[in-house]
Amino acid sequence: MKEKQLTACGARATLLIMLSPAGTSTNVAKQRLLLSCHLPTGHPGEHVDTDQAEQWDAPVTANPTLLRQAED
Ligand SMILES: [Zn+2]
Repeated sequence: MKEKQLTACGARATLLIMLSPAGTSTNVAKQRLLLSCHLPTGHPGEHVDTDQAEQWDAPVTANPTLLRQAED
């Protein structure tokens, strides 16, 4: 039996940290981060980037853009 290889899932997403300046309805991107899932290939549930402590639910190849509101 060959030992099972532990390969990272590697799903990717782009995380935009959004700012909403007071008095406007416009959202401004403050920061852009590239996320990468660190769980093993074929894992169940959401993808997790442990460095950024972010989770997302999407197909492995979807590479979605996630929005997060910046905290004041
Ligand atoms: Zn994943």
